[in-house]
Amino acid sequence: TTVFVSGATGFIASHVVEDLLKAGYKVIGSGRSQEKNEGLLKKFNNNPNLSMEIVEDIAAPNAFDKAFQRRGKEIKVVLHIASPVHFNTTDFEKDLLIPAVNGTKSILEAIKEYAADTVEKVVITSSVAALAAPADMQDVSSVVTEDSWNRDTWESCQTNAISAYCGSKKFAEKTAWDFLEANKSTVKFTLSTINPGFVFGPQLFTDSLKNGINSSSAIIAKLVSSKVDDKFYNYSGPFIDVRDVSKAHLVAFEKPECAGQRLFLCEDLFCSQEVLDILNVEFPQLRGKIAAGEPGSGSSFLTKHSCKCDNSKTKKLLGFKFFNFKDCIVDTASQLLEVQN
Ligand code: NDP
Repeated sequence: TTVFVSGATGFIASHVVEDLLKAGYKVIGSGRSQEKNEGLLKKFNNNPNLSMEIVEDIAAPNAFDKAFQRRGKEIKVVLHIASPVHFNTTDFEKDLLIPAVNGTKSILEAIKEYAADTVEKVVITSSVAALAAPADMQDVSSVVTEDSWNRDTWESCQTNAISAYCGSKKFAEKTAWDFLEANKSTVKFTLSTINPGFVFGPQLFTDSLKNGINSSSAIIAKLVSSKVDDKFYNYSGPFIDVRDVSKAHLVAFEKPECAGQRLFLCEDLFCSQEVLDILNVEFPQLRGKIAAGEPGSGSSFLTKHSCKCDNSKTKKLLGFKFFNFKDCIVDTASQLLEVQN
């Protein structure tokens, strides 16, 4: 079976590629340039079951046509993971909303045009951001589940980069469900979405940390390299380990019960204070040198500043146990320290 993975060079996607290859699948990845694609192939020791196609910019119309024209007939499963995840922009439509929505639209159009008879399963990497707007994530009275939808509109999400990113995930996911509804007589695939909370955990390749870092891992990196008196922003929300996010992408297309489902990946709620508590206890070389905040105050912060999450349906569907917060943070920080030294 051949699986297409968009954005294969990314933090989450490289774990997915690794898990797919380990499970015996053939993988066609997409990356933005020849150079990035060759770099990834090399990291995977030029595994003969992995090949790469160039998709330079998912914001461009018909971005996936060439790749699917060439390879579509081989592909049975499509995992669409590429989407912009950064917050350094004020042009929210151009840099976040349009690429996210167009990328989803163009990969589905390419399937319809070139692989309607071969693609059986599509999994879209959405987010908790599609389930709840930032304000609702911090509302103690809200309960986020697999049925929730971010209430922001195309206009109301464009107040800051975080809301706009969240909007981009909502509108991209909605594009996919609407596409399926409109084309169910022409395409044969079933759709599932993966909606993770904040994703932490080690990079598959430690080397990846040398050429910049993905946005969610940067939250941990900043705390690891904080100074004792630094003020820090207390991020809060659901978290999940990248190794579980990767595994869920496989289960999502392998288990028939996952068809048509939104899989909400959350092990527990977390906040930055709790990250600092773990770093200060588990890493003697950091203790007393990095920010401490108010040790032990994390859970009361969450009681006052966070929604609740109920993903019991997802846990039952997936049927495997998630990495806990402490192991996730210890593994993330150990790798970061390895690179610093
Ligand atoms: P990364 O930034 O590592 O991965 C994003 C991938 O998308 C990269 O391969 C990137 O390529 C590619 N990409 C972004 N914009 C474009 C574009 N315009 N054209 C072509 N490719 C593009 O982040 P993650 O691995 O964390 O994110 C992967 C997915 O998971 C995203 O859909 C994200 O929204 C979702 N997600 C992530 C969470 C997290 O906390 N990390 C939480 C919930 C969902 P390049 O690096 O070359 O630009």
